[in-house]
Amino acid sequence: MAQIIDGNKVRDEIKEELKPRIARLAAQKRVPGLAVVLVGNNPASEVYVRNKVKTCQDLGMRSEKITPPESITTEELLAIVNQLNAREEVDGILVQLPLPKQVDTKRILLAVAPEKDVDGFHPYNVGCLVAALPAPRACTPAGVIQLLKRYQIPISGKRAVVVGRSDIVGKPAALLLLHEHATVTICHSKTPDLPGVCREADILVAAMGRPAMITGDYIRPGATVIDVGTNSLQTREEVARIFRNSSERLAAFDKRGSVLVGDVDPIDMAEKASAYTPVPGGVGPLTIAMLMVNTVESAERRLGVC
Ligand code: NDP
Repeated sequence: MAQIIDGNKVRDEIKEELKPRIARLAAQKRVPGLAVVLVGNNPASEVYVRNKVKTCQDLGMRSEKITPPESITTEELLAIVNQLNAREEVDGILVQLPLPKQVDTKRILLAVAPEKDVDGFHPYNVGCLVAALPAPRACTPAGVIQLLKRYQIPISGKRAVVVGRSDIVGKPAALLLLHEHATVTICHSKTPDLPGVCREADILVAAMGRPAMITGDYIRPGATVIDVGTNSLQTREEVARIFRNSSERLAAFDKRGSVLVGDVDPIDMAEKASAYTPVPGGVGPLTIAMLMVNTVESAERRLGVC
């Protein structure tokens, strides 16, 4: 039976480990503070931001939400970011993406002070990642490494295949695996014979945003599969096909009108992998946990205690 890598459990461990660090900072009157900028009324972004703010509260960290209107200009948003950069008590700044079309996202991300860039998206921090220097790492890929390490899945010397080359998941995940001494292949939409390449993987990381596309013939028996994908199935037919008529999933669909699935076929993955992350409850919970880690580390660095 394949081992299920429980992201909720790992998230809780990480949160527990942060508590004494936060208490130490609080004792020095430096409670770590996260500022989240949420532009407009994107319902998905609102849910993500609510969860981030709530996690800060659970941990006794300071958080604030800045909610400019959808119509904001690049210059106005730059002014908000610059004010946050200048505020001593703000350790982390997160600009929730996506931004409205009229806003130059690259300019905004470049404006965030690198030491407060808790998303790890600033080119300075990307450079530090490439050079393996200490700096905030992109949260979801950092979470992938935490899951592997905490489940004692060997990385060094293993073949890792990452499907997806985005700046926020695929590329940083591949670099982090490389720093852990895996032999890494990065795949994308132009990769020929994707199933063949994926079958070489001891560790297969799927981050494409294609519901259940990685089926059994992509998975080497006994591989570890990390499914980063988070896709919402919107039709009963899709749910029935992907979950092989599972009455539980169909009931969930009938209740909520949608069901989540990763990029990997959940049933094939459970049959062929030796360990895997479920969706939901795998990689997802780690993203916020690593954001908290980055914010606490930023406060510690800025106070000179680490
Ligand atoms: P992007 O859309 O930015 O990137 C997708 C990548 O997948 C691209 O590199 C693309 O290739 C590649 N790709 C797409 N289709 C195929 C295909 N048919 N074959 C091979 N490669 C393909 O997505 P993100 O990286 O932002 O996110 C990926 C997934 O991870 C999404 O489902 C997202 O929801 C999820 N996610 C989950 C998080 C979590 O907390 N659990 C956090 C962030 C993301 P190309 O470059 O050639 O176009």
